[in-house]
Amino acid sequence: RDRWVSDSSDSVISSGSDTEGQVYKVVLLGEQAVGKSSLARIFGGIEDTHDCEEAGNTYDRSVIVDEEEASIVLYDIWEQDNSRWLQDQCMKMGDAYIIVYSVTDKASFEKASELRIQLRRARQSEDIPIILVGNKSDLVRSREVSVEEGRACAVVFDCKFIETSASLHHNVQALFEGIVRQIRLRKDSKED
Ligand code: GDP
Ligand code: MG
Repeated sequence: RDRWVSDSSDSVISSGSDTEGQVYKVVLLGEQAVGKSSLARIFGGIEDTHDCEEAGNTYDRSVIVDEEEASIVLYDIWEQDNSRWLQDQCMKMGDAYIIVYSVTDKASFEKASELRIQLRRARQSEDIPIILVGNKSDLVRSREVSVEEGRACAVVFDCKFIETSASLHHNVQALFEGIVRQIRLRKDSKED
């Protein structure tokens, strides 16, 4: 596990001059209890996924995707003190966004759409990578949102879609690889 994540402190790979110093800010959005912090802790390589209910956190990691290193700072601060100011900052600061809902919670799915609209309003002319994430896919019996509904929502809102299970570590690596690839795609198309 976690071979794809290398701690930036012991990284010996020097990035090319064009990417040097480039750090991508990725912001987690979503209703309470959908699994944002669980996903963030997996990304951060923290094994102990229980009993750390800190209000907010950032995770600074260097990941290797397609044989190329990318530095990511993941912000899990959306609910920290629930201040309007901080949430406005979140909407402004990200290079990419992960909007999380729980497949067991229809209301969180509706909230995800709201957040997508809010984000579009805040960053009107910008083409920012966004991945819609249906988390808790392991909870089959209490599912309230189907894969099809999630996928259809992503089509409407013009973003990528993936279902994950933080509990089973299912698709979590794919999620973070996906966000890096999305960021690179947008960057490359701007440079052309
Ligand atoms: P946050 O409020 O969005 O940061 O959500 P948390 O990461 O704190 O998770 C809320 C609760 O859902 C915790 O009890 C987690 O253990 C649980 N949880 C998170 N992800 C999953 C998942 O993929 N499957 C299951 N079964 N539970 C999860
Ligand atoms: Mg949290």
